[in-house]
Amino acid sequence: MTDRTLTLDDSLYRYLLDASLREHPVLAQLRNANQGHPLARMQIAPEQGQFMQLLVKLLAARRAIEIGTFTGYSALAVALALPEDGRLIACDISREYTDIGRAHWEKAGVAHKIDLRLAPAIDTLDALIGEGQAGSFDFAFIDADKTGYDAYYERCLTLLRAGGLVVVDNVLWSGRVAQPAADDDTAALQDFNRKLRADGRIDLSLLPLGDGLTLARKR
Ligand code: CA
Repeated sequence: MTDRTLTLDDSLYRYLLDASLREHPVLAQLRNANQGHPLARMQIAPEQGQFMQLLVKLLAARRAIEIGTFTGYSALAVALALPEDGRLIACDISREYTDIGRAHWEKAGVAHKIDLRLAPAIDTLDALIGEGQAGSFDFAFIDADKTGYDAYYERCLTLLRAGGLVVVDNVLWSGRVAQPAADDDTAALQDFNRKLRADGRIDLSLLPLGDGLTLARKR
């Protein structure tokens, strides 16, 4: 028995997946399609996708937003968990990568739930706020450039309703956040994590899931 989170070796991680993973066949296809892609590590882990689906359902979320879509795995996971009239606004700047996602969203029959905005995410978020959509979203997922996290977080917090949830990926950054920062991304994540620790606007939990996942519930 231990009071610390277990370290997952390969066999225990395999067991975790075998014991609990219920991956939609199109999600599995998308994950396999990305294997060997030089940026495949930018895709979330399948158990993380399943966890986010559970969060979306627990929140009874209908309006969701994602910052950093890449090839669309997390967007597909969230869209599958949203109700039929639910909508996800997906922010990214790469048509090349999101085209891969769109093909799979269509295959899974959820493309109508995903509103892809190809533009700098700050522009999209500021436009939503400018349109009077503050306080109207249930769920936000941030998984993009790390030096932009603070700006994305502030805007997502504005866009969420009270009780809504911001989920933030890569907050443990392969362990580099625990060492003196040797680059801008690590320093940005350290500052971001420190800020959230002291942020009275949210309830907070940092989970050692995947590369570190922060849950921040708007009070
Ligand atoms: Ca990520």
